[in-house]
Amino acid sequence: MTKIRTRFAPSPTGRMHVGNLRTALYAYLIAKHEQGDFILRIEDTDQERFYEGALDIIYRTLEKTGLVHDEGPDKDGGVGPYVQSERQAQGLYLKYVKQLIDKGEAYYCFCDKERLETLKSSFTDGEESKEIIVYDKHCLSLSKEEVEAKLAKGMPYVVRQNNPTEGSTTFHDEIYGDISVDNSELDDMILMKSDGYPTYNFANVVDDHLMGITHIVRGNEYISSTPKYNRLYDAFGWDVPKYVHCPLITDENHKKLAKRSGHASFEDLLDQGFVTEAIINYVSLLGWSPESDEEIFSLEQLVIEFDYTRMSKSPSVFDIPKLKWMNGEYIKAMDNDRYYEFALPYIKKVVKKDLDLKKIADLVKTRIEIFTEIAEHIDFFDELPEYNTAMYTHKKMKTNSENSLEILKEMLPILEKTDDYSVDGLHDMIMEFIANKEIKNGQGLWPLRTAVSGKQSTPGGAFEIMDIIGKEESLSRIRKAINLLEGELTE
Ligand code: GLU
Repeated sequence: MTKIRTRFAPSPTGRMHVGNLRTALYAYLIAKHEQGDFILRIEDTDQERFYEGALDIIYRTLEKTGLVHDEGPDKDGGVGPYVQSERQAQGLYLKYVKQLIDKGEAYYCFCDKERLETLKSSFTDGEESKEIIVYDKHCLSLSKEEVEAKLAKGMPYVVRQNNPTEGSTTFHDEIYGDISVDNSELDDMILMKSDGYPTYNFANVVDDHLMGITHIVRGNEYISSTPKYNRLYDAFGWDVPKYVHCPLITDENHKKLAKRSGHASFEDLLDQGFVTEAIINYVSLLGWSPESDEEIFSLEQLVIEFDYTRMSKSPSVFDIPKLKWMNGEYIKAMDNDRYYEFALPYIKKVVKKDLDLKKIADLVKTRIEIFTEIAEHIDFFDELPEYNTAMYTHKKMKTNSENSLEILKEMLPILEKTDDYSVDGLHDMIMEFIANKEIKNGQGLWPLRTAVSGKQSTPGGAFEIMDIIGKEESLSRIRKAINLLEGELTE
């Protein structure tokens, strides 16, 4: 059996979108599942769409996600260069396009913009209406001499594929099965542009063949062009690779996931407080389902589990709540050192006082799904927020302003006397007080926690909070509570 070789072939035209990331991941997993090779190829033939910084993003993302390539621009495997502009500079595409011209499978086209404008036709793609040019093979009828004369004059030209207009072409996709396309739909696409660069449509075929790619993994938007690619493989006498087209990813409204939706790029997701492993895990499920009900997979586990025959044809919804849930699971499972590394910067944004930030981090670890949620949980540590004494009334705890005031007044001297503000110390002291007073735990703890936090819900209970804010601040908050309650009750 030949070794599986897959490639990720991004164009450096922007950020790494979830769709690109999934393609990279699936290509990686398909190769690694069978101990194959994963190749990185940079497809930079569209010079107009080049985006500064995009290459860095590609390398950074692959490194951060652990999708380590075996070959690529920085790792020669003998079939390079791995950057299309460098391959172009070597005259590689020109050589192959000439072979096609000689075989009658491609031809020079000198039609200018004005003429092409007249060939424009409109169609609707989803809700958007688009215009395409269906080329009418005008230049196919030029004689060899006419072509040569035009070339000699230096007339600008493109090279087009010469496709049949009758009959149909069928190809096999590993996910979608056999797909037939009427040849009338195969336009004579441009293989080489007037700037001498190949189009994606041509370069992908030449490079995938020369790089020995066995499985082409890419988004299903390429399905309709695949018969044209196969005609190129056939024209060269090359074996057609296996195709693994990945289903569409949509937003929650079932529209194609758009770049403008803030969640669409890997870097955006990191900025929003998601962790890499959770993103990868979540993205792996956008079009694939494992055999078991298990949903949490490390990259190593995915390599073992991922079987592309279990990929789906139907669109996958990019579901932020589900991603958040998964992220929360990853946060809970994180070892503490790594967790602090993530959490502390978010805590420092809110807590400016010299408090034990790690203790605060410990309190929120199981409460957050993404790191940006930390702020809302810990906003009371620095300053006691303004709060309403109605908060002391809690039906289930059987508390109200009166009994809360009484409890706090009795707790105050006990808390003034001790210097042990450790969680355990406070616990023993207050629980003893509660036992002696023969009240329910909640009747003692609800007022105390309300007093020291000013909030109805907090990460951790009264003791954890008091341990962090310390004696002086705890007492000052309790005295303030007593004042507030007295004020209310004497009104
Ligand atoms: N350069 C293409 C893109 O970024 C890659 C498509 C493919 O994987 O063949 O969309």
